[in-house]
Formats: sequence, C-alpha cells, structure tokens
Amino acid sequence: MKKFLLLSLIALQPAYAITIQIDYTYDTTNFFNTQAKKDAIEGVARFYGNLLTDSLLRIDPAQNPGNTWTTNFFHPATGALVTLTNPVIPADTIIVYVGARDLGGSVRGQGGPGGLGGSGFTPWFNLIRGRGNPGAVYSNANAALRTDFAPWGGSIAFDIDTTWNFSLTQNLSGLEFVTVALHEMGHVLGVGTASSWDNKVSGLTFTGAASLRANGSTPAAQSGGDHYDGSLNSEAYGSFNTAHGSSRAVLMLPSVSDDGSTIGVATDLDLAGLVDIGWEVTPPHALTATSLSPGGASFQWRSSSFFDYQVQRATTLPSFPGGSTQAPGTGGNLTWTDPTAPANRAFYRLKTVRVFDQPAAIPLPIPPPDEAPSTFYEPPQSVACSHGE
Ligand SMILES: [Zn+2]
Repeated sequence: MKKFLLLSLIALQPAYAITIQIDYTYDTTNFFNTQAKKDAIEGVARFYGNLLTDSLLRIDPAQNPGNTWTTNFFHPATGALVTLTNPVIPADTIIVYVGARDLGGSVRGQGGPGGLGGSGFTPWFNLIRGRGNPGAVYSNANAALRTDFAPWGGSIAFDIDTTWNFSLTQNLSGLEFVTVALHEMGHVLGVGTASSWDNKVSGLTFTGAASLRANGSTPAAQSGGDHYDGSLNSEAYGSFNTAHGSSRAVLMLPSVSDDGSTIGVATDLDLAGLVDIGWEVTPPHALTATSLSPGGASFQWRSSSFFDYQVQRATTLPSFPGGSTQAPGTGGNLTWTDPTAPANRAFYRLKTVRVFDQPAAIPLPIPPPDEAPSTFYEPPQSVACSHGE
C-alpha cells in the first residue's frame, strides 16, 4: 500500500516579535472609552509588532549610573510637548501614547516617533538612540549616516469629530479607524519621519532597495518626503480580513481614500518601506498543500517581495535535495506544483531567504564627532495626514 506523507517544516531562522505597547495616559479627552476602540488600536499595534523581529535593548537609567535621559512627544489630546524624565523602556518594546483632539480640516490622524535628550557618555547615547542597532546610533550631526531606526516610541492623535468605524474586519459606514491607525503607526515606525527614511529620499523618488523591488524595479515615487506618491498601488498584505495579494492603494500615501469594500491595509510596498528604514520585517510564511496525491503535490504560500522562496523536497530526512528553484516573492500568493513528485512518501518545506539584511553601521568620519560626556536633544517628529471619508 502506497503512503503519501506531507511534512512542512518552517522557521529556519528564529523570529521574535516586538511589543508595541499602547499607552492611554494622555487620552485626556477620553476618546478610547470603549473596549472596541481599544481593541482596534491594540490590534494595529499587534499587527506591526508580530511582523517586526528586531532586537531592541532595554533602556533603564538605573542600570547606567551617571547617565540620564528624557523622552519627548506631542500630547495626543492637546498637541503640547510632553517631556518625561528617566522613563524605563522594556526590551523589545515600543511605547505609543494615543489620544484624540480636533485636528481640523480633513486631517484625520497625526503621528510620529518621539524625541529624546541625553546626558552622559557615548555608550549611553548609543543605547538610547540605537537600542543595540548600530545603524541607528549616530548623533543628529551625523544623521545622514543613519541606516536604521530604533525608537523608544512616539504618539498618535486621532481626529475627535470624525465619524469612525472601529471594526477590525469590515468596511462599514464611517472612516476605517484601523486604516488610519495603521498609517499613523507607519509614521511612528519611521515612514517619512526617520533619518534612515529621509536619507533615501532623492528628488521625486524614494530610493530604498526593498521599495524598488516591491515596485516592480521602478523607483517608488514619493510625495513631500513623508509619504509614497498618491498614484501608487501594491499588493495588500493579508490582514484585517483583506485578502493577501489583492491590488490596493498603498497605505502610506498623503491621503488614503476608502474604497468602500474592504479595510485598507499595509501593502507589500509599505512593508518594504519599513525594511528600507532598517526594520527586520519577518512575515510568517506558512506552506499549505493545495493538492496531494501519490505522484502529485501542489503548494501555495503568501509571499513578500523582500524575500526569496524555495520549496524544498526530501524523500528521506534530514537533507532536502529536491524542490523548486529559489525565486523572488511578489507580494502575492505564490504556487508551485512538483513536476516530479514521488509516488511514495515525501517531505516538503518552504525555505525563506531574507533579501535585505539588517543594516550595518557606517564608519564615522575621523575624528569621531561624538559628544560624550555631554548632552544632546532631538525633538519629536510628526506628520499630519488627511484621509477621505
Ligand atoms: Zn501620513
């Protein structure tokens, strides 16, 4: 009797998510007054947190005697600058303060990363700026060298008198809160706000290599330094009930309009933008069998354009000598049918290859212009974004 056995073994590299912690301390207009609203913003935080697998070191002044720091950000309910002295930021955690106020006109959301100030010595400055990511440690004077971004967090304000729809799964009447929250969280994570983004804006294009590949080898047009150009479409990253690979307006456009059908989500190009900023974006790539029979085997998986993929096949473990050729992701669903599937048992797994490695540090000019022991201050960033209803 012939047997056919499928085994899909994934996760060739360990992946650790980060936690984007939503903080309501400054929600002084009491916008997030229902569990449904909290579920919506926390669902957005979890979406990005699960995709990002960077390591972010803990920031704790008590563990670094002789050094102090401050964080600063825009109060989401008033717009005023808030400064906190010597907060502790847990490892692999980003803190985002949320709230709402009247943003005026068609502005629906305003968000960005917080700033920070430091007093002490170079290793401390490297820690609070880079959190262990060498491409993010440069001082403001050397911001042009930044290739990575490792914020402690930031803040997002939502428009208080917009009619919102807080559903995590449906495009209902009102403006999709999840779409605007995904967009503003993109700014907190550095789109249009991090130096490592700004350093890749050249004229009318964003020159990041991952964005280039996501955009079909055409340089991605940018708008005002803060967003991708409003004309761009890409493939939706399957989330919030929107199908993976469906053609959508890019999330990080100057103005996101509601298509009236499904929730506007991050697209392949949006995630590629995060890769270009320096984030390690690691979507789960599960291999599913769409057809299995003796002598036949077909598979499907979700792809992202910043990965290459190869389905590997073995008839005995542990080596996988057969399978598909390694090929680039597209942002859509990819399929492969094994043209020489064994009639007896076979084992298949999906190999994922990260195309763009975590950015390395660029050597500083000599002599190093670092400022220790000294102080520095960097202001918060924020982008005001309008969205159609
Ligand atoms: Zn925006």
